[in-house]
Amino acid sequence: MTRICDLLSGPPRVSVELWPPRTEQAARRLEASLDRLVELQPAFASITYGAAGSTRARTHELVVELEHDRHTTAMAHLTCASHSRVELVEILRRYRNAGVENILALRGDPPLDAPDAATRGELAHAIDLVDLARSVGPFCVAVAAHPLGHPEAPDLVTDRRHLAEKLRVADFAITQFVYGAEDYLRLVDELSDLGIDKPVVPGVMPVTSPRTLERMAALSGHHVPTWLARRISAAGDDPSAVQRAGVEIATQLCEELLASGAPGLHFYTMNQFAATLEVAAALGLAPRAGDGRARQPAEPPH
Ligand SMILES: Cc1cc2nc3c(=O)[nH]c(=O)nc-3n(C[C@H](O)[C@H](O)[C@H](O)COP(=O)(O)OP(=O)(O)OC[C@H]3O[C@@H](n4cnc5c(N)ncnc54)[C@H](O)[C@@H]3O)c2cc1C
Repeated sequence: MTRICDLLSGPPRVSVELWPPRTEQAARRLEASLDRLVELQPAFASITYGAAGSTRARTHELVVELEHDRHTTAMAHLTCASHSRVELVEILRRYRNAGVENILALRGDPPLDAPDAATRGELAHAIDLVDLARSVGPFCVAVAAHPLGHPEAPDLVTDRRHLAEKLRVADFAITQFVYGAEDYLRLVDELSDLGIDKPVVPGVMPVTSPRTLERMAALSGHHVPTWLARRISAAGDDPSAVQRAGVEIATQLCEELLASGAPGLHFYTMNQFAATLEVAAALGLAPRAGDGRARQPAEPPH
């Protein structure tokens, strides 16, 4: 078992976000994708948690499967939304008892059609869940950061202040995917001005289809920049040309992020590793197909 906080002081490595599957078919596809994790040798895989409820048990199962059967360090996402304090303690105890050491503490977004007190949950903010996790076990606790500001925040300054308070008690942050390295640098600089120097791992989402752009806007609550939409639409209707453009853009972004001192790169994979593998190989952080090992080899997962 590995605490992710202990990995972040080493050379930058790639990590991935996965979703627990919703259907049998999606589960079979994910199993096939997981076989490719060995090629990528990620520092860790983080598993999302459905604030709406449908896949919650699968988050626990997938985290435990990765840790115990696939020898991959796993981080369980957990949300305040829709839970009482007692339920959250119970979930955290199950993770602790299963030997899971890494938790991403989130507020979550209650379902839009039922934003009442019960669906919001008993804890108001992610910072409260960080404190709760600390009271249950010796977890390494990460939190979410929003480089362009959280969409509900009244302004960026207020949001940064809340993030700084949260990071003061957490171990590190993972950002919403960034469009440009300057957004990441600005976040890190502004946190530093607030006295916070904890590791902040930038999120990267390679565009693999025009639909990815819609997902990006929906997930981040911010418009996709025009330059990005233009470069993807210039690739036309050919899916492989779109993917090539997406990999090229993500590779350049990652190079800039690493050059600005990012302690790692967290890929939003949507359970497909092909684009992430290509970017990681171009960066020398994973073997190219048919190659030996990565140029800056990741340490073995354990
Ligand atoms: C890396 C990453 C992973 C994610 N994984 C998931 C997932 O698995 N499942 C899921 O449902 N969602 C996930 N999300 C989405 C996340 O739940 C939403 O963005 C949610 O709206 C905010 O979560 P948070 O943890 O940033 O909340 P918080 O840190 O609680 O912040 C939410 C809002 O409250 C404000 N705020 C914070 N503290 C205070 C305070 N003390 N007083 C007043 N206002 C305050 C903040 O400025 C912000 O506007 C993820 C997001 C990221 C970036």
